Amino acid sequence: FRLEMARSEKIHIVGQLAASVAHEVRNPITVVKGFMQLIQHDEEMSGRYHYYLQTMEKELDRATGIINDYLSLAKPQEGCTKIINMTELLQFVCQTLHSYAFINGVKLHCKAKKAYYVKGSIEKMQQLLVNIIKNGIEASPKESVMDLDILEEKKHILIKIRDYGQGMTAEQIEKAGMPFYTTKESGTGLGLMVCYQIVEAYNGKIHIDSELHKGTCFTIKLPAYNG
Ligand code: ADP
Ligand code: MG
Repeated sequence: FRLEMARSEKIHIVGQLAASVAHEVRNPITVVKGFMQLIQHDEEMSGRYHYYLQTMEKELDRATGIINDYLSLAKPQEGCTKIINMTELLQFVCQTLHSYAFINGVKLHCKAKKAYYVKGSIEKMQQLLVNIIKNGIEASPKESVMDLDILEEKKHILIKIRDYGQGMTAEQIEKAGMPFYTTKESGTGLGLMVCYQIVEAYNGKIHIDSELHKGTCFTIKLPAYNG
């Protein structure tokens, strides 16, 4: 007999499959990168091969970037809707990004203290915060800070992610979130696209305020959950 699957169920299964593949693919990439770094440090290596290896490493980083921007946190069996304490999640994401910020010379200041709740998938919300904070870190100069905070506005919460980095032109702001739009050498141009998709799915909005060479503030507006 025939088994029919609902459309949403099919999408769910494809999502889980993609996420498992992402997890599985990350491990071999890490192994290959490790061996490439060992070869790089071999003193008998000629200059030409150093260049080849550097190019290979950059492309592997790009592949990892795609996985991280796109699928990193959606583990199989997760992604269901829960009540989320956004303050806790923001603090947690700051911790997970601490070393990435540190190697880029950036300090993350998370000011949010009071609990603010939203309803949604923790993995999706985490991916949203990670992608936007990572962009801020990548745009920041050495020895700078980023200010992260959450405010309340009527029935919404506003998550403010501010950097004091390079800023964005009007064109960059307009194109932000378009698939594959990137100004970075090994960027994916997928991070913000994923963010816009997530925020839209939860009836929220992303607003960008930016001034060139001064910095950028991303505001994520999401419906608040109040019991
Ligand atoms: P990627 O980070 O791979 O380039 P994203 O979709 O995350 O892709 O970002 C797209 C582009 O938006 C970036 O290449 C950059 O030009 C711009 N951008 C995003 N966030 C910032 C920021 N905080 N400061 C300056 N530019 C930014
Ligand atoms: Mg990015």
